[in-house]
Amino acid sequence: MIQIETAWLLLLPVMFGIGWLAARWDLRLENRMDERERMRQQRSTFKGLSLLLNEQPDQAIETLVKIAQLDPETIELHFSLGNLFRRRGETERAIRVHQHLANRDDLKPRDRDHAAYELGRDFLRAGLLDRAEASLNRVGHGKFAAPAKESLLEMYQVERDWKKAIIAASELESLQGKSHHTEIAQFYCELAQESLHAKDLASAERSIKEALQVVPNHTRALILQGDYLMALEQPAQAIDAWSVVATSHPAFMHLIADRWMKAHTDIGKSEAGLDRLCELLNTQASGELLDVVHKQVMQIRGIQAANTMLSQVMQHSPSLSALSKLAETRLALEEGNANPDRVQELKSILHLLRQRTTSLARYTCGNCGFRARRFYWQCPGCNNWEAYSPRRSEGVAPSGPSM
Ligand SMILES: [Zn+2]
Repeated sequence: MIQIETAWLLLLPVMFGIGWLAARWDLRLENRMDERERMRQQRSTFKGLSLLLNEQPDQAIETLVKIAQLDPETIELHFSLGNLFRRRGETERAIRVHQHLANRDDLKPRDRDHAAYELGRDFLRAGLLDRAEASLNRVGHGKFAAPAKESLLEMYQVERDWKKAIIAASELESLQGKSHHTEIAQFYCELAQESLHAKDLASAERSIKEALQVVPNHTRALILQGDYLMALEQPAQAIDAWSVVATSHPAFMHLIADRWMKAHTDIGKSEAGLDRLCELLNTQASGELLDVVHKQVMQIRGIQAANTMLSQVMQHSPSLSALSKLAETRLALEEGNANPDRVQELKSILHLLRQRTTSLARYTCGNCGFRARRFYWQCPGCNNWEAYSPRRSEGVAPSGPSM
């Protein structure tokens, strides 16, 4: 009896051994199947990539899409593929890849948001703005919420839909925790500008007030406030608004110097208006302000006064613009004296100076270096707001984009 029990006891480790071997066999079988599946997917991936490299992108997408269905880990590959197509300008293919991802129900919310965001960018690139808006609005509150909102903001600016741009910029402020006040004030100014153009003065007033609430003493809003008051035929009040620009943002006065003089003429105070502009020339002798002041001094005070004013400007702020104006004034003086040689000499000097000032005078974007003949509140090169210096440079143009 004891012998039988001993035999059983001896059998126990053997049975354990057999069990352990069977488990290992099972595991090996399972690993082998996994390995086979992995190899199969790897082969499909290589096939997809090879089709792609062989310029057969349609078949490549189909093959790669099949892999994504089998293996969720290839999702990143799909995003890269879609973005590659978009960068190459093949937006239709980018849309197909991203649309496939966006339509899948088995994606994690983060990947679904990512797909909706990329699809929105594809539609934007293709110029399908309605579909871009719908796709970007589908993005949830995760990691892609802020980039999607940025794309929407970019799109609303292209469409000049300033009301939606204001909402998007405000939402972006809370998503990113950083201020977009400059843009929001400018969007209100764009609305005010449109209303003034359409002679809808009540809307213009509302938008100007909003802009000044977002950024108190905002330069462009103050300029527009003066324009609005001029439209209401209230030149004295317009001068009050523009006086704040003269005091707080004198470098921008050349943008309104003409209207400033008109408002002063309307109330019979053109001398006082001109005095203030001449005073500003001492610190803000920009080419454009000088143009207006020179024209007004010639009209109101005569050639001799213009000559004296320009000689003073050349002493404290010499520039090509001032020299050109001085030559113009001296020519006008000489023409009265009828000295043909002197007149011809001055004409040649003036011609050369005008050529130089016209070809060199440019506003420059502080962000991207884009140079332009006229002043922009939004740079046409990089789309940044208030990136242009109000002062026109006369220096030699650095190599870079310009218009
Ligand atoms: Zn720029």
